[in-house]
Amino acid sequence: MPLHSELEPIFDDVLSRNPGEVEFHQAVHEVLESIGPAVDKHPEYADAKIIKRICEPERQIIFRVPWEDDAGEIHINRGFRVEFNSALGPYKGGLRFHPSVLLGTVKFLGFEQVFKNALTGLPIGGGKGGSDFDPKGCSDREVMRFCQSFMTELYRHIGEYTDVPAGDIGVGGREIGFLFGQYKRITNRYESGVLTGKGLSFGGAQVRREATGYGCTYFVDEMLKARGESFDGKDVVVSGSGNVAIYTIEKVHQLGGRVVACSDSSGYVRDEKGIDLTLLKEIKETRRERIGVYVDRRRDADYVSDRSIWEVPCQVAIPSATQNELTESDALMLVRNGCIAVGEGANMPTTPDGVRVLREAGVSFGPGKAANAGGVAASALEMQQNASRDSWTFQHSEERLRDIMQGIHARCYETADEYGIPGDYVAGANISGYARVAAAMLALGLV
Ligand code: NDP
Repeated sequence: MPLHSELEPIFDDVLSRNPGEVEFHQAVHEVLESIGPAVDKHPEYADAKIIKRICEPERQIIFRVPWEDDAGEIHINRGFRVEFNSALGPYKGGLRFHPSVLLGTVKFLGFEQVFKNALTGLPIGGGKGGSDFDPKGCSDREVMRFCQSFMTELYRHIGEYTDVPAGDIGVGGREIGFLFGQYKRITNRYESGVLTGKGLSFGGAQVRREATGYGCTYFVDEMLKARGESFDGKDVVVSGSGNVAIYTIEKVHQLGGRVVACSDSSGYVRDEKGIDLTLLKEIKETRRERIGVYVDRRRDADYVSDRSIWEVPCQVAIPSATQNELTESDALMLVRNGCIAVGEGANMPTTPDGVRVLREAGVSFGPGKAANAGGVAASALEMQQNASRDSWTFQHSEERLRDIMQGIHARCYETADEYGIPGDYVAGANISGYARVAAAMLALGLV
């Protein structure tokens, strides 16, 4: 879709100032594409160069992370933290440890995070970080040494009122524990609010672990309700088998759906009787094994390593692994097989052509910055509990999460209606997130 004439030069500028960062370009284009109507409605933002400022991170930090493996060999990784926008509150966003991580990856994730966090209605800015470190195959002690080295540099840039990292791909409870331990040691401060996603034994909050997956399922449930449907009796495909995927599967099953396939980077498993979640958790959370071993214990299930998981027929698809994993041809397969709703558990998992196919076919499409905002929303609730030295029950925390996700759905839905594009959750999410950040930036002056 062509950009609004005022936005075209801004996008050209993003391209020339950030060469080669294709995922960042993709994320910026997707937002600019949909906020054209809001630009016409608020000419005062153009005078203050709000959009141009939103596209430029406030601060980008890159650092060396040296560490030693169990055999005494020295490794050098690269660490990143991109502090994108703090108009609404401290920078907030996860850390990703994966060999594919580059500065452009972190910038695309940080940019998305700004709008996502705004959509939650909570007082949090946007940032993201990570490293090209690969925890896969490392011992616990190696992961600990890496995390300690990473935090030895990162600690000077973060704090409960400055920048509050959390988990993402490759960073779960184990890594957050090691990072928090090192932060506490270096600073001599038990500053619980500096990291979220902490274990329950050291300041973590109920439902944070489950929040992204549960929240995404609540969002999809709202999309289904908006078209007079529900999860009841539906076949669902969830890609990935990490934190987001596992708790999506759990909540889909609780709401009456049946998840018939999930995956990791080596392939997917299909289980027509419904994915056995106890077995999946044992494989992925306890033993940290590959998804293929699932079929050793479930004889009726199949393992496929050379084709796309999106070939499995389903009425609902929830991509929850990584960016650009659902392409145009995958989207065409989903539509052909009768899929009516797609909710992005991962960040930007659907390619622009994939999104176009789904929207043209009338599939309800929940973009990641709305559908997976439950994780960061629960993180903000964790910060709230840390600040007041309080701890809420699982039930209360889950009710808060559900309310927040219903609120995000309503905000996207109503904004799309207001701008005359009913059912367009992408535009609804982008315009409503943008409006909140832009209003705060304007109020804060030229900073
Ligand atoms: P995890 O590391 O727990 O799990 C990631 C899953 O995705 C694994 O099954 C992994 O397989 C698979 N995966 C990762 N990279 C690839 C790849 N290149 N190709 C195929 N499969 C891949 O991460 P999370 O579950 O935390 O995150 C998943 C997605 O959700 C990411 O996009 C993340 O940004 C997003 N997200 C996460 C939030 C959170 O709270 N954790 C919050 C909001 C969004 P393998 O083990 O084989 O690599």
